Amino acid sequence: MPTLSEVERDAAGCTRCPLAAGRTHVVFGAGNANADLMFVGEGPGAEEDRQGLPFVGRSGQLLDRLLAEELGITRDTVYIGNCVKCRPPGNRDPLPLELDACGPYLEAQIELIQPKVVVTLGNFATKRLLATDVGITKLRGRSYPFRTGVLIPTFHPAAALRAGGETLAAMRADLIRAKEAMGRPRAQAGAS
Ligand code: URA
Repeated sequence: MPTLSEVERDAAGCTRCPLAAGRTHVVFGAGNANADLMFVGEGPGAEEDRQGLPFVGRSGQLLDRLLAEELGITRDTVYIGNCVKCRPPGNRDPLPLELDACGPYLEAQIELIQPKVVVTLGNFATKRLLATDVGITKLRGRSYPFRTGVLIPTFHPAAALRAGGETLAAMRADLIRAKEAMGRPRAQAGAS
């Protein structure tokens, strides 16, 4: 099994899909490689592509605020990754072939980090990791057994920025659910 740094080095030169042609940086992921809590988003936006880091634009600022307010932690204690590591042009949705091409990198990240709790941000990450077509609005509000821990789906921060109110409140509730799951032993982490 390669290390996370080796997988990152491999991804840095990736040409597995057409997104490679338009990127400034591969946004592999960032944070604590031994984290118990991992967030998975959709794909980099303009600011992420510019800096080579995940969730550093407006969505990321909201995520940072929610981490501080609901979990009392900073982003360096968790790991943050995305379904696709290169920015889709004009922030369009990632295409199935792009998600499939990038899938092995995300799988390797999850396998190597072995998070106790994975929080998926929005439809793309949730559908991909739960292998379902059901939408986030139906799926959120509970946790799902996932690999060696649990998966807790929530809205994408961009949705909360757009909609505010109930969407933001739901994200807060989901993060509290994640905090509670982190406090339980792995085998019982999905007990809510
Ligand atoms: N949105 C995402 O899904 N991921 C990022 O890294 C930034 C914005």
